[in-house]
Amino acid sequence: MVLEIENLVKRYNGNLAVDNVNMKIKNGEIFGLLGPNGAGKTTIINSIIGLTQIDSGVVKIFEKDFIKNEMEIKKDIGVVPQDIAVFEDLSALENVEFFGKLYKLKGADLKLKVKQALEFTGLWDKRKIYPKKFSGGMKRRLNIACAIVHQPKLIIMDEPTVGIDPQSRKHILNSVKILNERGATVIYTSHYMEEVEELCSYITIMDNGKIIADGTKESLKELVSNENRMEINLTKIENRITDVLKKIEGVKEVIIEDDKLVIVSNREIKNAGEIINNILKMDMEIVSINFEEPTLENVFLTLTGRKLRD
Ligand code: ADP
Repeated sequence: MVLEIENLVKRYNGNLAVDNVNMKIKNGEIFGLLGPNGAGKTTIINSIIGLTQIDSGVVKIFEKDFIKNEMEIKKDIGVVPQDIAVFEDLSALENVEFFGKLYKLKGADLKLKVKQALEFTGLWDKRKIYPKKFSGGMKRRLNIACAIVHQPKLIIMDEPTVGIDPQSRKHILNSVKILNERGATVIYTSHYMEEVEELCSYITIMDNGKIIADGTKESLKELVSNENRMEINLTKIENRITDVLKKIEGVKEVIIEDDKLVIVSNREIKNAGEIINNILKMDMEIVSINFEEPTLENVFLTLTGRKLRD
């Protein structure tokens, strides 16, 4: 195991941010930590790397207790924090060099690895530029270059694609895949389920400080595969439709999202006709009807009754 967390608890002013979490991450995995804002993802990441003092629990990295072996373990970890951490008054190259030196790289080895990190993130041509001239996406890529210059075995990325342009986003997602193919284990946190679905070999879904489901994306989708999801767009929705539809056999959940009704039913029961009849009876005009394949968003919705992204 690259990482093992046992019974991790963290409170802020008495409020539980992480509620007795257990996690195991195997070597070579791209491990996705998925959950809405406030779920506790960053608190877990900060606990793993010693930035947050935990209330109780054990964190083992590379089979060693983190607290007792912090310095040794940190040499093999690269962290891309949620808030960009680069020096505005150093050039891109100087920034990466600074981080390389922190990890005790020197001489020709330092030069080579700095060049490799900048090339890898597509910033070698921009190495003399100061980050204040960079776009958000380029700064994020510089942050990644700083985090991987020492070629860590474990790379932790906390929401690395929030607020950046599509081109940088694509670049970052691709970089994660390449770093993993070269042998690094990656922990990737996000509230974008499409990213986690595309990238991650194992996914843990969190909500309110707790793990609510984990597994491969296939196994997570199996959790909702005995369900049928129907999405009906309407010109207007009367709230009392929820109670009417819930009385129909097989209907498990009715959710109103703007102009859309989402109806989750038991797959075995054919109730589409009855659902539509009841909607028409209430004089609501149907614009379109879709039957959806399960996504991680559906898994979250089914388990919590809420959307992943508000
Ligand atoms: P996520 O990364 O999933 O968005 P966080 O770990 O940032 O979630 O937050 C989990 C919970 O802990 C939230 O309720 C948040 O408000 C709270 N929290 C996080 N950091 C602090 C802090 N430094 N002080 C007080 N509360 C915090």
